[in-house]
Amino acid sequence: MDRQWLTTPRRAYLYMKMLFSIADFEHFFSPTQLRRGIGLFESGKVELEEKNHDSGYTFSVANHVVTVQKKGSRILSFTCSCGTKYSCVHLCASMFFFYPKTL
Ligand SMILES: [Zn+2]
Repeated sequence: MDRQWLTTPRRAYLYMKMLFSIADFEHFFSPTQLRRGIGLFESGKVELEEKNHDSGYTFSVANHVVTVQKKGSRILSFTCSCGTKYSCVHLCASMFFFYPKTL
């Protein structure tokens, strides 16, 4: 997590809301996270482990477990086993799973 990340008002807002649309998820992550996230996704490190009825998804991402609650194209909440309080590269990589399907 680079400390520059929260310095733009839009990112700070998104962080506060803990809510963002998959359509503009790239604004939620730093350029470094996006680069690493797409790298993980393209190298097959993102696997959907489980999907439950109320739009909960569990992903395995490079030895971490990411859970996502999604409503339509909006991410309502997430967790990652790496312990991040907000965005991490594993969550970022998971977003690429949804990205082409929801646009
Ligand atoms: Zn993580």
